[in-house]
Amino acid sequence: MKRILVIEDEPLLRMALTDALRAEGFEVLEAADGEMGLASALREDPDAVLLDLMLPKRDGFSVLRALREDRLAAPVLILSARGAEYDRIQGFEYGADDYIVKPFSMQELLLRLGAALARRAGATPGVAHERDGHRARFGGVEVDFEAFSLVNRGVRHGLSRLELELLTYFLAHEGEVLDRLRLLSDVWNPSESPTTRTVDQHVLKLRKKIEADPAAPRHLVTVHGIGYQFLLAPSGR
Ligand code: CA
Repeated sequence: MKRILVIEDEPLLRMALTDALRAEGFEVLEAADGEMGLASALREDPDAVLLDLMLPKRDGFSVLRALREDRLAAPVLILSARGAEYDRIQGFEYGADDYIVKPFSMQELLLRLGAALARRAGATPGVAHERDGHRARFGGVEVDFEAFSLVNRGVRHGLSRLELELLTYFLAHEGEVLDRLRLLSDVWNPSESPTTRTVDQHVLKLRKKIEADPAAPRHLVTVHGIGYQFLLAPSGR
């Protein structure tokens, strides 16, 4: 049973969320302020967090930042009446998986929660032979998923959450030709309104970190007219 943590100070909304989630078969944990929410998230390790922004004691952004610093892997969906562009961007920069503006329909919330959970499940790579605990190795690269970083031929690079998710996806689909639209729908959050150009930009960023020569990639290769292919053993091209 998936466990969802609801961090919301407004009792009626918290109750409505709790009821709707329980009706869908989720186990629900509740917190009425930011500090309780953060403590509960770190202690209980929920499968997803619904997070209000305007909270007593500790605001939602501060909770989110602390969760990501503690490397909570669960998706976090921000629920906020503040729909301003600035807040949305801030939320995604701090590592939110989705941003839902109040008032929202319960049905929409459940759909978006389901999508966030599915994305997270799909992002778990099935590359056991190359992956040892939270590390993966290929070529001259060692990825540390817990530390959000990799070491490429002795040089350490930090990875953003998105870069880590993209790399995880490539590792899980090693050898497959992946078109840009599939990458967009499987890795990106639709509410970020990404474009195929977004995919290219992030592939370029990843290449700078994983390739010996980013201008002549041998792991993350372009398949002209389609998209990309990730190869554990470097291609001879
Ligand atoms: Ca509130």
